Amino acid sequence: MSKYVYLFKEGDQSMRNLLGGKGANLAEMSRLGLPVPQGFTVTTEACNAYYDAGKTISDDIIKQIFEALAATEKEMGKKFGDSEEPFLVSVRSGSRASMPGMMDTILNLGLNNVSVEGLAKKTNNPRFAYDSYRRFIQMFSDVVMDIPKSNYEHLLEKMKEAKGVEADTDLDANDLKVLVDQFLVKYEQLKGQPFPQDPKEQLIEAITAVFRSWDNPRANTYRRLNQIPYDWGTAVNVQGMVFGNMGEDSGTGVAFSRNPSTGEKELYGEYLFNAQGEDVVAGIRTPKPIAELETDNPALYNEFVKLVDTLENHYKDMQDMEFTIEQGKLYFLQTRNGKRTAQAALQIAIDLVNEGVLTKEEALLKVEPKQLDTLLHPQFDADDLASAEVLTTGLNASPGAATGRVAFDADRAREMVAENKQPVILVRVETSPEDIEGMIVASGILTARGGMTSHAAVVARGMGKCCVSGASQLRIDEENKTFTVNGQTFKEGDWISLDGSTGKVYNKQVKTVDATVSGNFGTIMGWADEVRKLDVRANADNPNDASVAYEYGAQGIGLCRTEHMFFEESRIAAMREMIVAPNVEAREKALAKLLPMQREDFKGLYKAMKGYAVTIRYLDPPLHEFLPTQKDDIEALAKEMNMSFEDLHQVIESLHETNPMLGHRGVRLSVTYPEIARMQTQAVIEAAIEVTKEGLTVVPEIMIPLVGEVRELRTIKKVVVETADAIIKASGVDLKYLVGTMIEIPRAALLADEIAKEAEFFSFGTNDLTQMTFGFSRDDAATFLGDYYEQKIFEEDPFQHVDQRGVGKLMKMASTLGREARPNLKLGICGEHGGDPSSVEFCHNIGLSYVSCSPFRVPIARLAAAHAQIKNPR
Ligand code: ADP
Ligand code: MG
Ligand code: MG
Repeated sequence: MSKYVYLFKEGDQSMRNLLGGKGANLAEMSRLGLPVPQGFTVTTEACNAYYDAGKTISDDIIKQIFEALAATEKEMGKKFGDSEEPFLVSVRSGSRASMPGMMDTILNLGLNNVSVEGLAKKTNNPRFAYDSYRRFIQMFSDVVMDIPKSNYEHLLEKMKEAKGVEADTDLDANDLKVLVDQFLVKYEQLKGQPFPQDPKEQLIEAITAVFRSWDNPRANTYRRLNQIPYDWGTAVNVQGMVFGNMGEDSGTGVAFSRNPSTGEKELYGEYLFNAQGEDVVAGIRTPKPIAELETDNPALYNEFVKLVDTLENHYKDMQDMEFTIEQGKLYFLQTRNGKRTAQAALQIAIDLVNEGVLTKEEALLKVEPKQLDTLLHPQFDADDLASAEVLTTGLNASPGAATGRVAFDADRAREMVAENKQPVILVRVETSPEDIEGMIVASGILTARGGMTSHAAVVARGMGKCCVSGASQLRIDEENKTFTVNGQTFKEGDWISLDGSTGKVYNKQVKTVDATVSGNFGTIMGWADEVRKLDVRANADNPNDASVAYEYGAQGIGLCRTEHMFFEESRIAAMREMIVAPNVEAREKALAKLLPMQREDFKGLYKAMKGYAVTIRYLDPPLHEFLPTQKDDIEALAKEMNMSFEDLHQVIESLHETNPMLGHRGVRLSVTYPEIARMQTQAVIEAAIEVTKEGLTVVPEIMIPLVGEVRELRTIKKVVVETADAIIKASGVDLKYLVGTMIEIPRAALLADEIAKEAEFFSFGTNDLTQMTFGFSRDDAATFLGDYYEQKIFEEDPFQHVDQRGVGKLMKMASTLGREARPNLKLGICGEHGGDPSSVEFCHNIGLSYVSCSPFRVPIARLAAAHAQIKNPR
């Protein structure tokens, strides 16, 4: 029989996969002797078993749960379900990876109409007993029975109004007792049956609800975004309750061992007196900063500080802890490595090395590559900012600058972004897990309530998204979709800006400027460069992008898409002329116009890269992307080409393809029109010769796209080499160049050994390779991928993360075959995946020479490559 339930005493931090993060750390804390209410963990395997059995929990698991419960009762000296002195528990989810706010906790479970009286009598605190019961009814209804909390909150608000009080702590025992009765009636109204009175039934219902929540849409979305596999499952922790709502000598709070915004080494956090569980994060009352605990209760504060140090030293990382004080006694309810902003992550990593706690390599692993993104994003333009008015200042919950149009709910935020592609700022009283999808599309989040540890703040920091929380002067009218602050009213669609680093809210759209790589960022990047074996190049099509890439540490250009140089207004005409040219003469005439532009562009690229390799891909796109469709464009082009409108129109018609992505593109263009390859070679080589004469060394890498058959490559390579060698010879300059190909058609991967005989390098074009391996296009997949995610056919987007099992197998095979045929074959990747950390790790593991990604992702790839080397040295 498998063991599905572990007492905290039986576990430790190494059992994270089985016990989930929360369970493993509760076990570890109790092992370390910290004050932790005892309990047990139902394992992630039990969750999987629940799903395997068609969403039922087996008798065996139930039996093990009650055995563990009995053991815990013994320890606590109280009995679950006792009517005089009931043992109450919390039921808490916790998967391997932390998924903040994804699954809700139930507190005070075990209470019923009888034992609430017992609790009131035993504690001599009826207020506390009824407060606990009303909370329990509300949480149980919400989490287990899908009855929205608002049904009860409404009653609570009415009660407060009737009593003329502001805070729920101002309600007395009798008010809460009345409220409990109202809650029970409400429950029965909505469910058609009374609130479950059997604590055992409550417990099993709650545990299965946690299992169920693993599969809710929010959890699935979060997992997809964070590449958390579905089959990890969640564990469930059942833990003896301690009570922060027993009066003024009790309370609950959240603390970080270092500042999660800046990384500064200082205890940071908030707490509330006479409160329970989520009160602090829910922004119901405004919590006090942790520093005040020192004056409120110095002895307890000192004990707290000591234990925080113990935890940080033990885990060797910044800790995020949840605690409760019950009648002056301190308990730890959770610890984990804290989520932090990118700035804080860098600061903490560097400090921990300086403090001698971590090696550089360990410290590098503490910085999430993906997170660096926020540091690379724009900040406000100082001049433009000067003309903006500060509407109000909230809490600087998550740094960065955001500008966008106001949206008041998640659905509208999504629609607005989809409709006009302009950024939105999500404005909410406070956020809850239902808002996740809106938070994902928003550029920034603004809330009227909630502290630094509110849902909005925590989730935004996790996403690296700008957030200003607790802007309490905001008056939000959700119904009419307006908010008023400082005498001004804003409606949906109006522009505002947020500075998540200062908490300031501005009244208009403010321009932003690019960030720079320096300070701590530079230090960490330096360490990453010392470690990594994989080179990082950038995809850049113009000198400007190339310079940005160079600044961000790119070691060359892995992909220059030559056709991108011709989308510009002033150039597209010549490009179109080339495409519709009815014969070789006309095409050569058009190409002659393109040549000097192209040559200048290449010179710019070589110079920007200061001697690093520059890979130039020859003309690739489906031609329809360039064809004129408007009548006046066609007329103008006809005139330019001395053709009649009708003739030109006919040529355009004849270029129509049913499946342009699988049509006349890539190397196929050069096979039909070798003069294109000739012109591009001339531009590449002449530009290289010119910069060489100016004293720069450059080795251009000429890349032929969409090869599926070695004879295609051989044919075009011949054109390239003949043209290039003639020019080089005539120039008298000693110039080296390489000719290689992209591997983006599955057939090329299968025949990579043949292709490597001609190709001096391979670059995996994983966008096309993914499309062609799966047989669906990136542009069309969006319409059905949603169904695939829902039905767990796919768990992640193969266009974002290399599909390692399928596409990856082709890549691996092509690398091996290629290097067998040509041992010094250079291998790279230039698809979107080149900047995705999990894909970078894969590229390292299969032995590629470099990854190439967009300039802004270069630092991310550098760090990801270092992580890959640390995890799997090569
Ligand atoms: P989340 O993962 O959303 O943080 P938790 O399971 O940590 O959810 O529970 C949220 C809060 O509920 C905790 O921070 C704590 O304040 C309270 N809580 C959970 N279990 C207990 C308990 N056994 N006794 C007292 N409070 C608890
Ligand atoms: Mg929660
Ligand atoms: Mg928690």
